[in-house]
Amino acid sequence: MAEIEREAMEYDVVIVGAGPAGLSAAIRLKQLDADLNVVVLEKGSEVGAHILSGAVLDPCGLDALIPDWKEKGAPLNTPVTEDNFYMLGEAGKIRIPNFPMPPLMNNHGNYIVSMGNVCRWMAEQAEGLGVEIFPGMACSELVYGENGEVKGVVAGEFGKNPDGTPGPGYEPGMELHGKYVFISEGVRGSLAKEIIAKYDLSDGKEPQKYGIGMKEIWEIDPAKHKQGTVTHTMGWPLGGNAGGGSFIYHLENNQVYVGFVVHLNYKNPYLYPYMEFQRFKHHPMVADLLKGGKRVAYGARAITEGGWQSLPKLVAPGVALLGCSAGMVNVPRIKGNHNAMLSGKAAAEAAYDAIKAERSGDELTAYETEVREGPIGKDLKKVRNVKPMWSKWGMIPSLMLGGLDMWTNTMGFSLFGTLGHGKNDALSTEEAGKHQPIDYPKPDGTLSFDRLTNVSFAMTNHEESQPCHLRLTDPDIPVKVNLPKFAEPAQRYCPAGVYEIVEDEGEQRFVINFQNCVHCKTCDIKDPSQNITWTTPQGGDGPNYPNM
Ligand SMILES: Cc1cc2nc3c(=O)[nH]c(=O)nc-3n(C[C@H](O)[C@H](O)[C@H](O)COP(=O)(O)OP(=O)(O)OC[C@H]3O[C@@H](n4cnc5c(N)ncnc54)[C@H](O)[C@@H]3O)c2cc1C
Repeated sequence: MAEIEREAMEYDVVIVGAGPAGLSAAIRLKQLDADLNVVVLEKGSEVGAHILSGAVLDPCGLDALIPDWKEKGAPLNTPVTEDNFYMLGEAGKIRIPNFPMPPLMNNHGNYIVSMGNVCRWMAEQAEGLGVEIFPGMACSELVYGENGEVKGVVAGEFGKNPDGTPGPGYEPGMELHGKYVFISEGVRGSLAKEIIAKYDLSDGKEPQKYGIGMKEIWEIDPAKHKQGTVTHTMGWPLGGNAGGGSFIYHLENNQVYVGFVVHLNYKNPYLYPYMEFQRFKHHPMVADLLKGGKRVAYGARAITEGGWQSLPKLVAPGVALLGCSAGMVNVPRIKGNHNAMLSGKAAAEAAYDAIKAERSGDELTAYETEVREGPIGKDLKKVRNVKPMWSKWGMIPSLMLGGLDMWTNTMGFSLFGTLGHGKNDALSTEEAGKHQPIDYPKPDGTLSFDRLTNVSFAMTNHEESQPCHLRLTDPDIPVKVNLPKFAEPAQRYCPAGVYEIVEDEGEQRFVINFQNCVHCKTCDIKDPSQNITWTTPQGGDGPNYPNM
């Protein structure tokens, strides 16, 4: 294809992604200097459309950014009033008391929120300060400057044919250049992945680790609804097959977030994370709660779990990685939104100082220092051994030793130093011959649902006449390698049913139903041959999460 000519627009700071990290950065930049030109580009059809996290929010990030958020009407309406933690067996449960838990695990003072709504509110605050926000604009490429620095992004390219050539309504998009570019794409961002590889930002770090999180919103019987209640579980149905667990958060309007996370370092390629989630809802504790209610939304997204030791270098010339583009989730707390906000604020402050000093296109080292030595680093460092302990020793020892380690870390030391994660999640998958297929019960259509029915509740949509955004490095690998060796686990790890093996005139074929994709990025992470690359489809495509 001939070189594409694009118009360019110049900004002080270009921000990719309108999640809590990107929006916090935009707000802080304009708080510091109302004259800075700041743009935020978001691939979702509107701000919040791709934000999955129905969350318990630690408000420390918002307190630091907008101290009068209450007066300004932030949608934090449900303080946590009750915090429960259970170990589940198939039919029973044991309550783990709160008192042995380190104080950092306590949810009092936190809020159950729709992060989609929090982001919509943050976008209003940003626009009120003069930030330009463009939803429906996917950033598909990085633009590099003469000295190898990141100079900007390409956004808003539309209308390619399936083979990648310009279609009849082709729009080349435009280049948005900035003195600094902030990448706040969330977990496993496609531009972040390119930057981490190009500038070797993960050299000397542990591999990033991930989980797949799936979530449904339920409207339940008001008699069973207890606004403000937070429940976490471990144990059944995953048992020893994989790490992970569930969350159940009672928010407003008789709604409940029911979610399930499976750590993606599981070994058995027959494991089917989506069906584990469906099975979980048949536990008597959950079934009793949901009976008589209805599921009103579904979604899925990967979650970063590598924490402190997997944090890449955060800056390269002209660019900084914010929030979960770098991986700032505190795993035992299942919380990353507060750190995403704090990282946005810190990156903005570093960029403001640099621009004031007439710098551009260099490394914002002050941002890196603030993340590692400030509140984010302290938050992540205290819990750094919980995930590797679980991976090495399993759930019960990691609960006890991880709890002890979090306590001693709260006092400033660890008996374990810093444990490593070892392999990445793709390489943790073992050959199918070493494992037995798992027999999952059929969904009953009341408490549990088949995958495609549930995907319709993510309201995902992709224009079919564009190139498939899920790229195979070698198209033969799924059938020739992954199928005989690993029973092609893409058929099961994808929570949206994108990947299928079909029989076609006696031959097996790998089919990619990219229209179903909910942008969770699990395929890019878990494919055992590391043969799938998630790229961004055209803007506005993907899920349309209403209120999740
Ligand atoms: C199931 C689940 C439950 C969770 N529960 C909690 C919880 O209870 N509490 C908590 O604090 N945290 C929770 N988290 C973690 C939390 O969601 C993340 O830490 C947080 O979303 C990170 O914010 P972010 O701004 O870095 O990224 P995101 O919130 O993911 O935002 C990234 C934004 O960038 C956009 N984007 C991505 N790529 C591009 C591109 N190329 N071009 C344009 N736009 C792009 C996306 O559409 C999205 O809007 C949970 C995560 C999951 C998956």
